[in-house]
Amino acid sequence: MAKPTIGVLALQGDFEAHEKALARAGACAVQVRTREDLEAVDGLIIPGGESTTMLKLLRREDLFEPLRSFGETKPIFGTCAGAILLAKEVTNPAQESLGLMNIGVERNGYGRQLDSRIVRLRDGYEAVFIRAPIIRSVGEGVTVLARYGADPVLVEQGRHLVATFHPELTEDARVHKLFVEKVAAQ
Ligand code: GLN
Repeated sequence: MAKPTIGVLALQGDFEAHEKALARAGACAVQVRTREDLEAVDGLIIPGGESTTMLKLLRREDLFEPLRSFGETKPIFGTCAGAILLAKEVTNPAQESLGLMNIGVERNGYGRQLDSRIVRLRDGYEAVFIRAPIIRSVGEGVTVLARYGADPVLVEQGRHLVATFHPELTEDARVHKLFVEKVAAQ
C-alpha cells in the first residue's frame, strides 16, 4: 500500500488535528461520519473528546457495530476518549465500549487536580494529557510502548494502537507514523 487512506472519526472531538498529523505522517486523511465513509478507509483514528458523547453519537448514527466489525480486520488507533472506546473494561464510571483492546482503563484517572499537563516521556515523546484515562491493566497480547511513570500510556495489540495522551497536538509525527506503518502493513 503506497499511501494508505486513513479515516478520522469526525462525530465529536479533535478530529481536525488528527487529519493534519496524518498528513505530516504521509497518509491521506479523510473524515468518517457514516458507514459508507468507513467502508472506504484502510484504517481509522478515534480521536480525543468526550467518550460518553461519542458513544451516544455512534449509537445514533448506527456506527457502533460497524466500527466493531471494522476493527476485527482493520487497524484502529484510539487516543484519549478513543482509548476509552477501544478498551475491554472501563471504570469511573463503567461504560460500554468496543472491547477491541485487551486493556482496562479508568476514566479521568489523574483526577481533577490534573486536568491537563504536558510532560516529556523517557523515550523523548512529548505527551499532552487532557482529562486523560489511566490504563490500569494490560492483558495478553498487549505490548507497552511508552510509560508515564509506571502507567502505560502508549500500547499496541496486533493491528491496534492506543495512546492516553494527544500525539496530534505536538509536532513529533512518530506516533502517527507508527500507525500509518501498521495500516500500510495490512
Ligand atoms: N475524559 C474524557 C472521557 O472520559 C476523555 C478526555 C479526552 O479525550 N481528552 O471521555
